[in-house]
Amino acid sequence: MQTITVVSLSGGQGKTTTAFFLSRLLEGSSKVLAIDADPQANLTFFLGHEVEANEPTLLEAIIGTVEPIDSIYKLSEQTNLCLIPADDGLTKAQDYLAASGMGAMVLRNRLKQVAKHFDYCIIDAPPTRSQIVMSAMGAADSLLIPAEALTKGVNSLVRTLELTEHLGSLGAFSGRVLGVIPFRDRWFGNSQSTKSAKAIAAFNEIAIESETEVFPSILESERYKQALDEGVLLSKLGYPKLEKPFERVIERL
Ligand code: ATP
Ligand code: MG
Repeated sequence: MQTITVVSLSGGQGKTTTAFFLSRLLEGSSKVLAIDADPQANLTFFLGHEVEANEPTLLEAIIGTVEPIDSIYKLSEQTNLCLIPADDGLTKAQDYLAASGMGAMVLRNRLKQVAKHFDYCIIDAPPTRSQIVMSAMGAADSLLIPAEALTKGVNSLVRTLELTEHLGSLGAFSGRVLGVIPFRDRWFGNSQSTKSAKAIAAFNEIAIESETEVFPSILESERYKQALDEGVLLSKLGYPKLEKPFERVIERL
């Protein structure tokens, strides 16, 4: 199983959007485990899963009150996509991870038990620097960093790379940074907005320094929101070209 964590240390950077489309694209040809590591539980919602009271989620898998396999739900009979869901109770994992003294290693260790059942694991991380983020990053073979094509996105990218380096120096992350995905890149007809162009130029400079790449952009478009709301791929709505950023990512896996 190859684990890809989608992480960016600011709100609204396109993490859940990226995790959703990657999971849906990969399920066509591979066995995929999606993990919602954000107490906001947006990925759980977009994938159409409702957490019932007393149903195990990522919280129980992390703190070890259930075996990880018992927190995994198949999303439908026809699909190759499974989910470890979240709900707002996931914040309780913070204390457990902090007290464990090796929070960044916990999720990686738990997932070893289920790795043989899947080809890919896609983890949607929360936006704030926390024990849960570090555990989601520590579990990854590859990190994917979406960043809004604005100054806020540049800052988010820089902070995410700093945390990656920090975890690397502790031996808690030894994977690679797959690349950066510009999010909400704005165009007016044939001309790109100055703010988007400036931010993406900064992404490119940072990517060269960090020996990684900048993927094609997720354009500013209502189509992505529509696909998320309906829980389907953009190609199903008739916009296959908008899937290019995720297809390029899959080529690199
Ligand atoms: P958080 O840090 O809160 O978890 P996030 O990094 O996961 O946020 P998303 O939830 O993926 O970010 O996206 C933020 C918002 O942007 C969502 O409300 C989503 O509906 C919207 N959105 C997604 N794709 C696009 C797009 N291409 N253009 C404009 N808005 C988009
Ligand atoms: Mg999110």
